[in-house]
Amino acid sequence: MICKNCPRGCDTNKGRFCGVSGIKVAKIMKHFFEEPCISGTNGSGAIFFSGCNLRCCYCQNMPVSHGGKGEEFSPQMLYDAILELQKDGVHNINLVTAAPVLPSVAEVLGAVKAHLHIPVVYNSSGYEGDISSLDGLVDVYLPDFKYFDGDLAKRYSAASDYPEVAKKTIAAMCAQTGEAEFEGGLIKRGTIVRHLVLPSHRKDSFDVIEYIARNYPHALVSIMSQYTPQFNKGGRELDRRVTTFEYNSVVNRAAELRLKGYMQDRASASSVYTPEF
Ligand code: SF4
Repeated sequence: MICKNCPRGCDTNKGRFCGVSGIKVAKIMKHFFEEPCISGTNGSGAIFFSGCNLRCCYCQNMPVSHGGKGEEFSPQMLYDAILELQKDGVHNINLVTAAPVLPSVAEVLGAVKAHLHIPVVYNSSGYEGDISSLDGLVDVYLPDFKYFDGDLAKRYSAASDYPEVAKKTIAAMCAQTGEAEFEGGLIKRGTIVRHLVLPSHRKDSFDVIEYIARNYPHALVSIMSQYTPQFNKGGRELDRRVTTFEYNSVVNRAAELRLKGYMQDRASASSVYTPEF
């Protein structure tokens, strides 16, 4: 059988690139280190799904994305976990890397949405298949736009089609959410495109940022600096942290393009987000 949950289209008789065959949850937590409009003061209600359909060679979360660490969940367990998080007072429900189980997640959201008074955030690598089933169920999209160059995407994530897929995915997300809406500093609706600056590749970052400025006028942008080589299995060029010069040059380019969004405070050990470029 061919899996249609993401662009890889695996023949499941031969194996699944993501290693995922059903809902598996690695962690459920109040997350305080997302962008300020997502974490707020009470935290974001994050549900981290196990397994990943991109499996970048430098992933910061290797045991979960590559190692499949997690607990098998039934749809009912996911439904209950979402309502439990809401009861705990989080600002939103934050579904992290759900692409391999998107049909099951959409079904649970369809059932639970009417009981939610907080937004649903869909946190994605940008490497998605058809996301039309999430229309009306997801309020805030948080996609990555990792690479502009297909060769880089091939080398680091075994997905030379990543740039084209991400462009289409983010366009569909922006079309679903429209312009960002806030209430009391918290995002209620919208799309925030994230970009992790990689060591040695700031020119690719410029291309990503410039594409966003040209094509997604309503999207906010979050430029991330927290790359760490701890799990790097790629080339030696990734074996260091991003320099302040590299990071600042990408942020400055975003500011020149008048993009709105978030950068990170590099002086802070915890890489706390600071609003606005
Ligand atoms: S979701 Fe997983 S199994 Fe399905 S096509 Fe993508 S990588 Fe393959």
